[in-house]
Amino acid sequence: MIKHIVSFSGGKDSTAMLLMMLEKGMQIDDIVFMDTGVEFREMYEHIEKVEAYINRKITKLKADETFEFMLLDYEKKKGKNKGQKGYSFPDFRNRWCTNYFKQRVIKKYLKDKYKNFEILEYHGIAVDEPKRLEKNKNKNIKYPLAEWNITEKEALEYCYNKGFDWNGLYKKFHRVSCWCCPLKSLKELKVLYKEYPNLFKKLEEWESKTYRKFRADYTVKELIEKFTREIGGE
Ligand code: SF4
Repeated sequence: MIKHIVSFSGGKDSTAMLLMMLEKGMQIDDIVFMDTGVEFREMYEHIEKVEAYINRKITKLKADETFEFMLLDYEKKKGKNKGQKGYSFPDFRNRWCTNYFKQRVIKKYLKDKYKNFEILEYHGIAVDEPKRLEKNKNKNIKYPLAEWNITEKEALEYCYNKGFDWNGLYKKFHRVSCWCCPLKSLKELKVLYKEYPNLFKKLEEWESKTYRKFRADYTVKELIEKFTREIGGE
């Protein structure tokens, strides 16, 4: 027997997908959200709003350790960096957090809870994200938005029309994943600096306690100097 599982990040695409699937009366056995603990406050509020709207609980998963602990304090048990403290900031070659916080926890949850079932996952990837669609094409994953020819822009519009606006988060950022992600564009980091100064302070604090700088091209301190200069000249 098959269990139909919606992988729900809370972003525009997975929100649009979930609501459309429900509208079409498609079977959904579980809706799973992986909480990294470093989501924007607006995202947690959005998830509560979605639960109220669909009148269903969303399964919220958490890893055993916090993002901060893994970044700064987790001691590596094997490999060439054995004994090293923390994974430090992720970069394009080393996205340890994607594996630790997302794939691993979800995989374990599905394996434990649905061990006697075949799993069919539904991921919210729009038709205009061909690279992401290509990546998982051989797994037991379906992409309803792509099947329905829905673009990212259309997914966002659809959510707005249903009354979901993330309290303006998508007006500020293109992607609304972890606030502390060094892979955000400089433009988005500047918005983070301007609109969420406390979060930027936290980044500065983390950087002072770890061995790798926030990004290969800029430390947090350099970013602060750059953004202060730019904002002053605006
Ligand atoms: S969004 Fe960035 S910080 Fe968050 S899990 Fe992905 S790579 Fe890591």
